[in-house]
Amino acid sequence: MSAPEILAAAGFTPDELDNGPLVVRTPVDGSRIASIATHGADDTRAMIDAGVAAFDTWRATPAPRRGELVRLLGEELRAAKEPLGELVSLECGKILQEGLGEVQEMIDICDLAVGISRQLFGLTIASERPGHAMRETWHPMGVCGIITAFNFPVAPWCWNAALALVAGDPVIWKPSEKTPLTALAVQKICDKALARFGDAPAGLIQTVIGDHTVGQELTASRDVAIVSATGSTRMGHAVGTAMAARFGRCILELGGNNAMIVSPSADLEMALRAIVFSAVGTAGQRCTSLRRLIVHADIYDSLVERLKKAYSGLPIGDPLADGVLVGPLIDMQAFDAMEAALEQVRADGGKVFGGGAALRNTFPDAAYVHPAIAEMPGQTDIVRTETFAPILYVMKYTDLDAAIALQNDVPQGLSSCIFSTDVRETETFLSAVGSDCGIANVNIGPSGAEIGGAFGGEKDTGGGRESGSDAWRGYMRRQTNTINYSRDLPLAQGIKFDI
Ligand code: NAD
Repeated sequence: MSAPEILAAAGFTPDELDNGPLVVRTPVDGSRIASIATHGADDTRAMIDAGVAAFDTWRATPAPRRGELVRLLGEELRAAKEPLGELVSLECGKILQEGLGEVQEMIDICDLAVGISRQLFGLTIASERPGHAMRETWHPMGVCGIITAFNFPVAPWCWNAALALVAGDPVIWKPSEKTPLTALAVQKICDKALARFGDAPAGLIQTVIGDHTVGQELTASRDVAIVSATGSTRMGHAVGTAMAARFGRCILELGGNNAMIVSPSADLEMALRAIVFSAVGTAGQRCTSLRRLIVHADIYDSLVERLKKAYSGLPIGDPLADGVLVGPLIDMQAFDAMEAALEQVRADGGKVFGGGAALRNTFPDAAYVHPAIAEMPGQTDIVRTETFAPILYVMKYTDLDAAIALQNDVPQGLSSCIFSTDVRETETFLSAVGSDCGIANVNIGPSGAEIGGAFGGEKDTGGGRESGSDAWRGYMRRQTNTINYSRDLPLAQGIKFDI
């Protein structure tokens, strides 16, 4: 399908695609696909006000009824999976299979959130006083701002929005300025679900288009109770600081620098497939992409040789074409960052296999690259930096404790894994003295998480958790209740205060 066909299938009219200053280019060939209107500070303020007004009604709507809206959203997403998945590929350049996978993640989190809407459970707590009961309850928080990155243009919005909506919070989405069309397409899908739902308040689900200054409007406003922000650690510092200044709640999902340890007992066939998928999938532009491979000296040469062979045959090309596994980088800036990192690798004494521009003759204005393997003499600064491109740094180890120390010795703490069939090694890796990441896997790669588990990481990754487990609590406020059903008024800790 051509770009105009994909945009039309996603519900856009030609007028909507040519009504403002924000130029949107597809990384597939670098061509301009739209030029759309943006929102200013006043528009953003008006949306926040509309969200606050919606909160009044939505927080009083029974949670299972709120879940019904998310159930309808899941239905609409199922119906729109194909055209939305294609638009994701077109706008951010990931292969169609991954574009469709992102929409499937949206559907999956809707299903989970619908179930959660029938629980949102608290605790009953034993009271030290006779005739007293204690409870812990969870209540809606308020407007939830959701700031997202270009590389996952739709799924992280839904991880947040599905839970926020069942929790009773209106949502305002600030998508990446590089991928606004997928957000607007999702808003159209939401509008269908809202129409079927019937009596949702206006301003419940909104999308604001613009650059980081629009994001700053959300973080600055005391009327935005929560900001959940996905993106670079640099952005997280700015958002976290602004939110801390007003004691607002934030959920930060920032950069990763994910590693795999491959031990001598590993199933190398499985490890090889996992390495290639997680290092070159999404052209190395996942927060959970595999960036560091820590291989035992006994198997280092054979594994690296097999890897180079696999890298030599990778199908690079138009992400919407059948059989392609590696699409383009988002833009030329990303290409330059990859080139600069490989230059530094050479200066550090590393050996580079692959890298460099691909398909320049076919797509002169797009940033296709050959994924690179960089064999490093040690974990230099460039290895400790997240370069958002398919560069796999490879290092050798002989002692597992040293390998775990190397894996942990980076500023980021998102995802990690070990390939080993030795239970002593795998359990050590998962133990208190093992990986320090939010995600630690055994015999699967670091990317491609399921929505049932809490997603997020420590250190420079920001500490936020989204998606499954008890992440829903991040969108609610906790209240402790003490109820006296006796005819006396005993004080806690036995304090006497008679009047
Ligand atoms: P980015 O930080 O450049 O932008 C992300 C979003 O933040 C955009 O919408 C941008 O407009 C907004 N923004 C930037 N500065 C802001 C500010 N001061 N206040 C408010 N909003 C601001 O990131 P990117 O290049 O789009 O995405 C790539 C990065 O995102 C990588 O570092 C990647 O690891 C990370 N990421 C993390 C996760 C995760 O779940 N941990 C998921 C996807 C991407």
